[in-house]
Amino acid sequence: MQHPTTEQLLAVRDGVSTIEVRAHVDECATCRAELARFVRMRDALRALPDAEPPPGALDALLTARAAASRRARSRRYAGVAVAASVVMAVALLVVPHNRPAPPLIPVDTEVSLLAERSDELDRVLASVESHSGILDLRTAGTIVALEDRLATVDAHLRRVGTNEPRTTGELLRQRIALVNALVDVHAAQTQYSF
Ligand SMILES: [Zn+2]
Repeated sequence: MQHPTTEQLLAVRDGVSTIEVRAHVDECATCRAELARFVRMRDALRALPDAEPPPGALDALLTARAAASRRARSRRYAGVAVAASVVMAVALLVVPHNRPAPPLIPVDTEVSLLAERSDELDRVLASVESHSGILDLRTAGTIVALEDRLATVDAHLRRVGTNEPRTTGELLRQRIALVNALVDVHAAQTQYSF
C-alpha cells in the first residue's frame, strides 16, 4: 500500500487504526519515523498547560488562513489585538512559579537569547506554513488549539513587559515550545501531501 495519510498515522499513534495501516507502519521505516515524531509531538503538547480546543476549530482556521496574507506575524507579542476568547483563556494559563535551578547566565541575557530564538522560529513557521498542504479536521483542530495557546502566551508577555525577566523567560520558553509544535504539525502536512 501507499504510505498512510497523516490522519491514518495519528490513528495508529492513538491505537485506533486498521490492521492494514498498522502492518504497513511496522514494515516501513519512513512511516515509523513519522509516527515517532507524532508521538513526540503529542508528548510535547501534553506537557503544556491545558487549554480547551475551541468549538468551530476548522472555521476558525480557514478564517485565519484567509487573513494570512495581511498577517505580518501578528502573533508577535509586540502589539497584537487579542480576541475576547483569548483574554478569557489567559485566566486559565498557569505560569509555573518555582523554576528548578537558577540560570547560569544572567537572566537578561537569557531572556534576549530566548527572544531571538523565538523570532527565529517565527520565521521558520512562516515559511513552513506557506508550504503547508490541505489540512484534515483533526490537524486543523490541533493547529487552532496551538495558535490559541500561543496568543495566550503572547498576551501574557505583553502584560509582563520588561519588569519581570524571569517570568518573561518562562513565557518565552512556553512560546518556543508552542511554535516548535506548530512547525512540526505544518511540516507533517507538507511531507504527507502526496
Ligand atoms: Zn510508509
